Amino acid sequence: MTSPSSVPPPLRVGIIGGGLAGLSTAAHLLLAAPDDFTVEILEAAPFPGGQCASWRDDRGRTLETGIHLAFPWYHNLAALAAAIGRPLPLRETDGNYYVCNGATGRVDTLLAGKSVLKTLGGLATFPGLTPGERWQLARLIGRILRMDDAAAEAHDGQTVAEFLAAQGATPALARQLALAAVTIQGLRPEEAGATSFLKFLRTMYGSTGRFDTAFFGAPLGDALIEPLAAFIRARGGRLQLGSAIAGIEAEPEGPGVRLPDGTVRRFDHVVAAVPGHALPTLLPPAWREQPPFAGLRGLHETPIVTLTLWYDRRVLPDGNVYISNRDRRHGPVFDAVADKADHWRDWPGLAASGSIVQVLIDAADDVAGLADEALVARAVADLDRFFPGCRGVRPIDATVLRLTGTYCGTRPGYWSRVPRTAATGIPGLWLAGDYTTGPYHYGMESAVRSGKEVANGLLALRGRPAHPVLRPRYLPFVRA
Ligand SMILES: Cc1cc2nc3c(=O)[nH]c(=O)nc-3n(C[C@H](O)[C@H](O)[C@H](O)COP(=O)(O)OP(=O)(O)OC[C@H]3O[C@@H](n4cnc5c(N)ncnc54)[C@H](O)[C@@H]3O)c2cc1C
Repeated sequence: MTSPSSVPPPLRVGIIGGGLAGLSTAAHLLLAAPDDFTVEILEAAPFPGGQCASWRDDRGRTLETGIHLAFPWYHNLAALAAAIGRPLPLRETDGNYYVCNGATGRVDTLLAGKSVLKTLGGLATFPGLTPGERWQLARLIGRILRMDDAAAEAHDGQTVAEFLAAQGATPALARQLALAAVTIQGLRPEEAGATSFLKFLRTMYGSTGRFDTAFFGAPLGDALIEPLAAFIRARGGRLQLGSAIAGIEAEPEGPGVRLPDGTVRRFDHVVAAVPGHALPTLLPPAWREQPPFAGLRGLHETPIVTLTLWYDRRVLPDGNVYISNRDRRHGPVFDAVADKADHWRDWPGLAASGSIVQVLIDAADDVAGLADEALVARAVADLDRFFPGCRGVRPIDATVLRLTGTYCGTRPGYWSRVPRTAATGIPGLWLAGDYTTGPYHYGMESAVRSGKEVANGLLALRGRPAHPVLRPRYLPFVRA
């Protein structure tokens, strides 16, 4: 029998960052062994969620950081939501890609979806390709599906445009394929790194899921973040909001965190769950130069602009996401638009009866200098161009969010810079964040999975079994 005195005290875990990765770390610890850990999240912002947050403005309306899609292979995200008893309120799209083609002014439809047959049908009917190009496309996708991580990462120095040129892709084929780079990396193919593109395509074409690409049926905070925060609090975890950490201290007993007033808080374990580019400045100078941190100094945040346009009537045809090929010469200015009022139609908090159009401008360096009014005017003109329901109708209100701290765009060299590990080699210091793990480079699934991996490392210290880390369900011939 164990005597009470032999029960070790709980490990004190301090988590810097209350985004999805930090919340996932805390929730996975508290799901498995609430008595083994005291968990405290220190979040700089006044609300949790980081890049995945939503909040109310001073008029009580909900604002989100921007359009978020859940993909069918987000198994760790879905499992976490189910485990805390709050399954995700997902609203499925039809899986297709709708591309606002700046050159033609039309919306091109690319068939895609959970059925492999439908996705193959999409390959066969990609608009604007000759039969020879379709055959070349099928062979190229086949080659990508057989690339393992090492083969995909061998292309880290290339842009998507360079990779496609080296593969002999015709201009029409390159234009179509480059859409994946624009959609998932938010960068033009001349800027986007080839490896993330390859890993994303491999997962998109090479895995199966039970649902198609989905939106959340409620704002991100209500659907995802607040349920996690409530669970963490209910299990005794603490969430300190408005608590920016000034640095991580090297101490003989383990790392500590330095608050802006110079006070140092001691924990047994510190989890850095901040974006990769934000980590180096928090580290003692000597650590910045050494693995696994050294490459992080080469990462740069990528500004994103999100516009929310409120209308007094429905102006978009449905709840699908409409993307563009980021051809800024022909417009449109946006990378993606979607009607949140459609997604949130069953959410009790929805007050508006008209459209709430979210307009996402990724990697917005080139337009971030424009005044709010100019950005809104450009977006409205673009919407008029592609959507008949918008013509002659003006939004009754608009907000402009200029987001920093994001880096959706992975540029060449990214994969050789980021540590793909939860353990740092420094006793007591762990890394969580979408850059540390996952099937490709970024996203909610990677953030949740990274937190699970940190939690598993800490659970092992207490002899507790690990949470299963779920991978996309790859088709048998896919090497991943
Ligand atoms: C507009 C937009 C659209 C997106 N669309 C999608 C999508 O469709 N699908 C998808 O899967 N993903 C999407 N993403 C990406 C997804 O939101 C992120 O991958 C995920 O939320 C990252 O979580 P994280 O915890 O790793 O990082 P973050 O969310 O960046 O969390 C880091 C947290 O650390 C805090 N922090 C930073 N410095 C400090 C400090 N010194 N002290 C204390 N706290 C600190 C920050 O405030 C933040 O809350 C999108 C992101 C954006 C911005």
